[in-house]
Amino acid sequence: MSSQDYDCIVIGAGVQGSFTAYNLAKNNKKTLLLEQFVLPHSRGSSHGQTRIIRKAYDEDYYTHMMEECYQLWSQLEKEANVKLYRTSFPRRTGLLVMGPEQGDYQVFKSTLERNKVPIVILPREEFSQHIPHVNLSQGNAALVDTTAGVLYADRTLKTVQGQFQKLGGVIKDGQKVIDITPGSVVTVTTVSGVYRAKRLVITAGPWANTLLSHTGLQLPLQVIKINVCYWSEKIPGSYNVQHRFPCFIQLESEEAKHHIYGLPSNEYPGLMKICYHTGPETDPDERDRQTDRGDIDILQRYITRCFPGLVPIPAVVESCMYTVTPDDHFVLDHHPTHSNIVIGAGFSGHGFKFGPIVGKLLCELSQGEVPSYDLSPFRIRRFQAHSKSAL
Ligand SMILES: Cc1cc2nc3c(=O)[nH]c(=O)nc-3n(C[C@H](O)[C@H](O)[C@H](O)COP(=O)(O)OP(=O)(O)OC[C@H]3O[C@@H](n4cnc5c(N)ncnc54)[C@H](O)[C@@H]3O)c2cc1C
Repeated sequence: MSSQDYDCIVIGAGVQGSFTAYNLAKNNKKTLLLEQFVLPHSRGSSHGQTRIIRKAYDEDYYTHMMEECYQLWSQLEKEANVKLYRTSFPRRTGLLVMGPEQGDYQVFKSTLERNKVPIVILPREEFSQHIPHVNLSQGNAALVDTTAGVLYADRTLKTVQGQFQKLGGVIKDGQKVIDITPGSVVTVTTVSGVYRAKRLVITAGPWANTLLSHTGLQLPLQVIKINVCYWSEKIPGSYNVQHRFPCFIQLESEEAKHHIYGLPSNEYPGLMKICYHTGPETDPDERDRQTDRGDIDILQRYITRCFPGLVPIPAVVESCMYTVTPDDHFVLDHHPTHSNIVIGAGFSGHGFKFGPIVGKLLCELSQGEVPSYDLSPFRIRRFQAHSKSAL
């Protein structure tokens, strides 16, 4: 095997590609992780300081996967001797789920109860005693997923990439992939090199379809820009992580059809992160030319009504992107015509917490092993019924 030949090449060093490469190296595979930008960078979907980790979902399979995923997060923390999340006591923040009593809220509640996830139901009359500084909307119910917490995103990427390198893995950053030639040995051409491997994993986030076009495949993915907004506390400390203020999801509201979610003030003192779970479509290479602020208008109205202790004008606005599938479920599958190419894509704005398990699953798929979970919700063929032209 020459130095340019690998057992496996992974394209894209976001959270999913980094965990996949790490799992491959753990399985003694000679692995190359290629990244178009110089690391670390803030132009994909995995940058920034924090993400929410939770078991609260409306589908059983996500809650099931999170069971093992929490263990994998802890394992990596121990292995690297780094704190990657604020979740287990006394680091736990919990996730406050609020929504119209009869809507999705019931689905979340049932999934949590069915899966025996420890939750606390907050009756309306006791709500403000437990969660001061938040107005629960009329007709809304509330519960807390006590397993939830805050993940340190940037620190995760640095850690998992570092562990990968310790295992002998090779990272080449600043190397944009410009061509892929499928075959029993796949050839990957970057701006400055040509590499070959028996197996390829594509985890290119918002650029997934650009790369897949070299393999004759297009997936029904939409790339959207998210304005990541931070809001000032009127009274310092009122929404602070140290005071155990929780993360939250507002499932549906007067202001918005999609979720609104937030994390307690933590990374920027005195600023709480609250975002809208959708946004305008964008070209990933032109992200900052997309200047639509419709999501910020929605957030301002919601914050004025429900978070009266925050100044309803964002103090900081950063940018991130989601890559969304029509059903909001991930793509974890083999390429339909080139089985030694595996795809991890369409994480639809909720994939970070699953990084360790996605890495494990993409590694299993690329090695031709039976995956640890039923991947039917994540297969490419599910799109065929909806949109033949997209495939
Ligand atoms: C604002 C925001 C908040 C979020 N909150 C949460 C949350 O609370 N909880 C949660 O679980 N998830 C959350 N997510 C979602 C989560 O962050 C994403 O699902 C996840 O980061 C996707 O990772 P990825 O590896 O697929 O993509 P990316 O991080 O975008 O990685 C893809 C990588 O591929 C590289 N690449 C692309 N093309 C090429 C090429 N040609 N050559 C070489 N490299 C290439 C890119 O540069 C990039 O580094 C949030 C996302 C955003 C934007």
